[in-house]
Amino acid sequence: MATDSHNSWDARASAHSLYGFTDLPTIHERGAVVLTHGKGPYVYDVTGREYLDANSGLWNMVAGFDHPGLTEAAQAQYARFPGYHAFFGRMSDQTVMLSERLIEVSPFERGKVFYTNSGSEANDTLVKMMWFLGRAEGHPERRKILTRVNGYHGVTAVSASMTGKPYNALFGLPLPGFIHLTCPHYWREGRPGETEAAFTARMARELEETIIREGPDTIAAFVAEPVMGAGGVIPPSEGYFQAVQPVLRRYGIPLVADEVICGFGRTGTVWGSENYDFVPDAIISSKNLTAGFFPMGAVILGPELSDRLQAASEAAEEFPHGFTASGHPVGCAIALKAIDVILNEGLIENVRALTPRFEAGLARIAEKPNIGEWRGKGLMGAVEAVADKETKTPFAGHLSVSERIANACTDVGLICRPLGQAVVLCPPFIMTEGQMDEMFDKLDHALDTVFAEVG
Ligand SMILES: *Cc1c(COP(=O)(O)O)cnc(C)c1O
Repeated sequence: MATDSHNSWDARASAHSLYGFTDLPTIHERGAVVLTHGKGPYVYDVTGREYLDANSGLWNMVAGFDHPGLTEAAQAQYARFPGYHAFFGRMSDQTVMLSERLIEVSPFERGKVFYTNSGSEANDTLVKMMWFLGRAEGHPERRKILTRVNGYHGVTAVSASMTGKPYNALFGLPLPGFIHLTCPHYWREGRPGETEAAFTARMARELEETIIREGPDTIAAFVAEPVMGAGGVIPPSEGYFQAVQPVLRRYGIPLVADEVICGFGRTGTVWGSENYDFVPDAIISSKNLTAGFFPMGAVILGPELSDRLQAASEAAEEFPHGFTASGHPVGCAIALKAIDVILNEGLIENVRALTPRFEAGLARIAEKPNIGEWRGKGLMGAVEAVADKETKTPFAGHLSVSERIANACTDVGLICRPLGQAVVLCPPFIMTEGQMDEMFDKLDHALDTVFAEVG
């Protein structure tokens, strides 16, 4: 029993708390990990065990778990003004300053920002903005949202409908009008003999055929992560955004970049879209926005969508939407500091400096007979476990390879979450070379243990 082999924290965790995205039978068998604190890229559990967190919490604790500047920014703002909203024409000075800063670092020469408490809510907000615009502009039928299979956009009813994962069927989702295009993953989706260029052209053709089939006037937006994150770290095929952009322009469909993971440095540039040379019409931000120190999301609209939303809101007298804690002054103060830390304290430079070592580590892991490919961009990477490298056949589900890998990793003091059969690494930006070597050594060990059992 978990309660005997672990301490009472484990029993208490499971008695009254629900977990997100958790294999419950495994937890009953192995017990929960209950954490008390962190230091740099490490976290510590109630028994004092140390884990190197190769996933930055959930991608977001990019400045580590104890950045003093972020804690001080929070404490100072709590002392000054611990809470306010952004309704009825009132907002805190911190909120005003954060919006200015976000537009300054955005690819937009001007624009407007709407705050939420999470990435899911930011995507919901974007969709509601598009629906609101459609009606205000005399196109109430313009409601459909295009995303991709394996795209992850959140868990609320609308953002889950945008997310292209099979588990959403368990909720009877997606809602009608949410359309998922093929995942632009050449290694997995490319046809025999198809070149990467031909694959990319096929993705653009599918987009155009879908728009025509559904009716161009019914499509409100195309939303895409520059690099898919929670879908298993999937960079787009070569030339993908260059190929889809002209199609979207032809039909006047806004391109929205969901930068919740990529934004603020994960891929080595401020925005993931910079890496793929495109300027979106709007950006969704969260996670790194506060370096994980506060729940916050933002919809950043470029000039055209800002003007249209302004006009539509004037016509309707208001934009009837907002969350009680939207634009929270403490969250905004933390975000201002987090942006400063990421851009001006060498974090983004460290991402760039560490990328070659990170890629070499992934490539070394991918030499194993049971790893099909490695992929990545900046400090987000994945290796994909396969039963057969030639045919790319995944391990049979009953072997629970991903759970085994997660468990073997925690056994060696590494936190590293498999997504499907891909093992995802997204270390904090403050990682040192030594810590990166430790991360790969531990993963190497854990994978050898698992493949010896199932390979
Ligand atoms: C995590 C994530 C979201 C959802 O954010 P939450 O804060 O968990 O609601 C949306 N989009 C992307 C790309 C994400 O990675």
